[in-house]
Amino acid sequence: MARHTGPVCRLCRREGLKLFLKGSRCDTPKCAVERRGTPPGMHQARRGKMTDYGLHLREKQKVKHYYGVLERQFRTYFSEAERSRGNTGETLMSLLERRLDNVVHRLGFGQSRAQARQLVAHGHITVNGRRVDIPSYLLKPGDVIRVKNRKKSLQAVQANLADTNRDVPDFLSRLDGPMPEGRVNRIPESGDVSIPVETQLIIELCSK
Ligand code: SF4
Repeated sequence: MARHTGPVCRLCRREGLKLFLKGSRCDTPKCAVERRGTPPGMHQARRGKMTDYGLHLREKQKVKHYYGVLERQFRTYFSEAERSRGNTGETLMSLLERRLDNVVHRLGFGQSRAQARQLVAHGHITVNGRRVDIPSYLLKPGDVIRVKNRKKSLQAVQANLADTNRDVPDFLSRLDGPMPEGRVNRIPESGDVSIPVETQLIIELCSK
């Protein structure tokens, strides 16, 4: 289960965009993109003119960092999207949105995707009543996501819910209460993606 372990604010500064990788800190003036909009590195005080390849690459890297997936896994999603009958770009984004760690984050159970990933990996989350500890698990319509009925699990999620006032996207619904639960209403579409992305650039790069 490989993941990026370096400083994450640098990733946002590289893209020049808030990728919301640090939970509640991202909504405060402490956000590195708001304090320093320049790319990371000693000699990067300004952004030079981007090459055509650079434009394509940055779009792919942005999506990878946003969902917390590394190159090999991203290529697997891309191959699956390419094989599908629908629009490749939409299918790719839909696959990424259906990841269990992403859904746990978008339900507000985890403040960031990294925290949601940890909640899943540490066994705090169940899908249709069964414990699932695989962050990349792909959810389907009708799946019910619950927090394990354990004091430690419930406390962690309740604290996150109290801290976040994020709207739940249309493809999901959340039932609040002592035992919060979420449901996947339908397959996510391009309108459900919460990051501006030009999928055409990614397709052009990955199809080469
Ligand atoms: Fe990105 Fe959040 Fe860091 Fe801001 S605080 S740079 S949005 S990870």
